[in-house]
Amino acid sequence: LISRKWKVEPTRIDLGDGVIIGEGQFSIMAGPCSIESEKQIELVVQHLVENNVKIMRGGVFKPRSSPYAFRGLGLEGLQLFHRICREHGIKIITEVMQVSQIEDMIDYVDVFQVGARNSQNFNLLDALGEAQKPVLLKRGISGTIEELLQAAEYIFSNGNEKIMLCERGIRGYENAYRNILDLNAVPVLKAKTHLPVIVDPSHGIGLRDYVEEMSLAAVMAGADGVIYETHQKPEEAYSDGQQTLNFKESERMIRRMRQTYSLR
Ligand code: PEP
Ligand code: MN
Repeated sequence: LISRKWKVEPTRIDLGDGVIIGEGQFSIMAGPCSIESEKQIELVVQHLVENNVKIMRGGVFKPRSSPYAFRGLGLEGLQLFHRICREHGIKIITEVMQVSQIEDMIDYVDVFQVGARNSQNFNLLDALGEAQKPVLLKRGISGTIEELLQAAEYIFSNGNEKIMLCERGIRGYENAYRNILDLNAVPVLKAKTHLPVIVDPSHGIGLRDYVEEMSLAAVMAGADGVIYETHQKPEEAYSDGQQTLNFKESERMIRRMRQTYSLR
């Protein structure tokens, strides 16, 4: 169902208020790795509004490698995130980690993110297929393109067609950076499926100095958008500070991505 052979026209996902994801648009989703406080949300929202970015990312349920690391503010954090974003017309994307969270979260999110670690959590994918809320599905940590497509098929075949795929880097042997951002996947996915393809350069390379270059490369590779991490003080971020842009860096990257997109 997600194949170009089944449906040639590209899928567009309408989040309301004129925010549309898919071919013909370049979507920017930005925000901290983790939602941390009311003040933090306000500062990021202000940065997004100033730069005409309509979608904010931020985790409230965080999949952390160590159980002792910060695991997110949970539902209360999401409600705060939602209230502030709604006041400013910003849409919300945040990660859902398990089936039981869907019902609690659904009224406060515009897009459910499925993280790399849950990319093949088939019960979660089935449940999101029934949820009728847009889903951004990340590629697994060592996931193949075929596995990503099959995972999307789980959601789609349960009745939810509002899916975007996300390349976020795959694990390789190189340790000069966090992951290997597989930009090959962008044109290949665009050819194989009608779904929008989004690139996450922050997790893809994992080092803030190179996030801008990889974003620009993603634009030219044909991505329908990017999702990346920004924070008022990356060095104080509760998670993923090393790959997070400050607002000055973020602003410059937004400007350059838009310029580059206009050349495509
Ligand atoms: C995130 O977006 O902060 C995240 C945990 O991403 P991933 O699932 O790609 O590791
Ligand atoms: Mn992160």
